[in-house]
Amino acid sequence: MNASTFSVIRARKLSLVYHTADGPVHALSDVDLDVKKGDFVSFIGPSGCGKTTFLRVIADLEQHTSGEITVNGTTPENARKDRSYGYVFQAAALLPWRTIEANIAVPLEIMGYPESKRKQRIEQALAMVDLQGFGRKYPWQLSGGMQQRASIARALAFDADLLLMDEPFGALDEIVRDRLNEQLLQLWERTGKTICFVTHSIPEAVYLSTHIVVMSPRPGRVVDVITSPLPRDRPLDIRETPEFLEIARRVRAGLVAGHAQGADA
Ligand code: ADP
Ligand code: MG
Repeated sequence: MNASTFSVIRARKLSLVYHTADGPVHALSDVDLDVKKGDFVSFIGPSGCGKTTFLRVIADLEQHTSGEITVNGTTPENARKDRSYGYVFQAAALLPWRTIEANIAVPLEIMGYPESKRKQRIEQALAMVDLQGFGRKYPWQLSGGMQQRASIARALAFDADLLLMDEPFGALDEIVRDRLNEQLLQLWERTGKTICFVTHSIPEAVYLSTHIVVMSPRPGRVVDVITSPLPRDRPLDIRETPEFLEIARRVRAGLVAGHAQGADA
């Protein structure tokens, strides 16, 4: 297999059932998906359709019930132990009693990086998200957008090739989100990382992605995988082009079709 076709994530008939006091919850059903090296893949679907669950299975924070999944060609458990991914949670989830640099240091401390190496990695991570000079601040001294960038810096700190991002910009106003979308795209282009990105926003998914995975309501199924024809270099006003609007239309149609299927199920 040559490098350009290597599946960083490969799922086949992947299903996950949560066992709860109220009975089984079918969160994911028969998900087939390949995420190739360097892809920017967005997951979009209604609330509760299993997007977070899917990221958590990739990250080995949740065990699937049936089917198969590999991450970097191995089990999620091995991939986690190999520190194959950085994870950006829905809320910035920074520790309020630690400075920004001390927050970014957390995963590096866990991994036992020596202090000199930690310092270097923190500086690099801060630079990647344009937060040079803010390392000594506390989270509350930063705006919401800057806090979210700091949490991305934390996920970048150990330079994993795979970035898992769960609605990282969902709580931010639209102007800030636009800017962070642009910066994230530039970071992705610069670093060649593979990104899995959960979002509720159709324009955000279309603007960022090379591939858009449209999911149905519970149990989460893949309704459509759209390969974007947009160039990698995307100024924000690309969102007004006919090509952009056509992909957005297809995403919306997939969401509507998924809803109809869900209602029948
Ligand atoms: P999404 O991120 O798309 O909103 P989730 O993956 O969080 O969806 O959840 C999918 C479904 O699984 C939802 O119905 C949710 O209530 C349920 N769920 C998620 N986590 C658990 C859990 N730990 N135990 C039981 N049910 C869960
Ligand atoms: Mg979620």
